[in-house]
Amino acid sequence: MKPTYNDILEAMDKFYRGDRPKHYGEPRHLRVVHPKSNKPYAIKGIWGLATTNTTKGHNSTEDARKLKNLGFKIVVVGLPSVLSPKGFERNSGLYEGAEIQVTSNKYERNPKARKACLKHYQIKDGSLRCQCCKVDFSQTYGEIGNGFIHIHHLTPISAKGGTGYEIDPVKDLIPLCPNCHAMVHRKNPPYSIENLVSFIKEQQHN
Ligand SMILES: [Zn+2]
Ligand SMILES: [Zn+2]
Repeated sequence: MKPTYNDILEAMDKFYRGDRPKHYGEPRHLRVVHPKSNKPYAIKGIWGLATTNTTKGHNSTEDARKLKNLGFKIVVVGLPSVLSPKGFERNSGLYEGAEIQVTSNKYERNPKARKACLKHYQIKDGSLRCQCCKVDFSQTYGEIGNGFIHIHHLTPISAKGGTGYEIDPVKDLIPLCPNCHAMVHRKNPPYSIENLVSFIKEQQHN
């Protein structure tokens, strides 16, 4: 059963009204964008509703490609990156997501949310530090390290309702160095910051 463009629009309406396919869980990074409202929807949720009414047996990357072929825009959210500084805002809030090719790994964060997050931790620590291992890149590398840090998402996107995503720069985002950032993402959902801090402490005691 191959859904049409209109089937997908209908599935988006259903999802918006609260329908979910069976086994629908936390969406990862890919979203399909409604052509009129510009709202991003979880791929598995939409594809599931438009086809088998379950997410079982579906692959979001494959389904994103099919949705793209039907003429929908695909976006990626919630990934750390300094690539492609082309973020966008919608309505009054801070949103994130950027246009991508499904097969490429270009993505980006809302630069305003990032700035607000960095400012908060800079004031708290007196300098820009990883919130796990406390490394400060300007101290290690000098001038070229100024302002360098990754930003990690603390709040799963589904906790925000799964569609439009408004960011609280302090509650939802946290600065991490690339090492700590990679380590929290060693599982999905990611380790908490407290987890990672305790792992580091354990090692220091050995
Ligand atoms: Zn770190
Ligand atoms: Zn992250």
